[in-house]
Amino acid sequence: MKKELIITPAKCIGCSTCALTCSLVNQGEFDLAKSHIRITKYDFEGIFLISFLSSCKSCHQCAKACPSGAIRSMNVPDNTGHTEGGAN
Ligand code: SF4
Ligand code: SF4
Repeated sequence: MKKELIITPAKCIGCSTCALTCSLVNQGEFDLAKSHIRITKYDFEGIFLISFLSSCKSCHQCAKACPSGAIRSMNVPDNTGHTEGGAN
């Protein structure tokens, strides 16, 4: 088992707490441009896209900060990666 980030975009409320936390933890300042995660709003659909840059350090601090459960840190079998979607 290992820790992986489980992503459920439908739960995202677009607060950017994950991105601000990422920049603070990894860069020492609140700056969305320095975060390793991007939250993009699709106005027509009314949903948010959650995407990780290749520079993501997999520290899982964004998951700890997310208030909605859109990003969760979970124990998963060793042969899986970041997972998008999910039933809950
Ligand atoms: S897991 Fe990646 S995106 Fe999340 S806080 Fe860590 S470096 Fe940032
Ligand atoms: S993933 Fe979570 S913390 Fe990040 S913008 Fe969406 S609801 Fe907020």
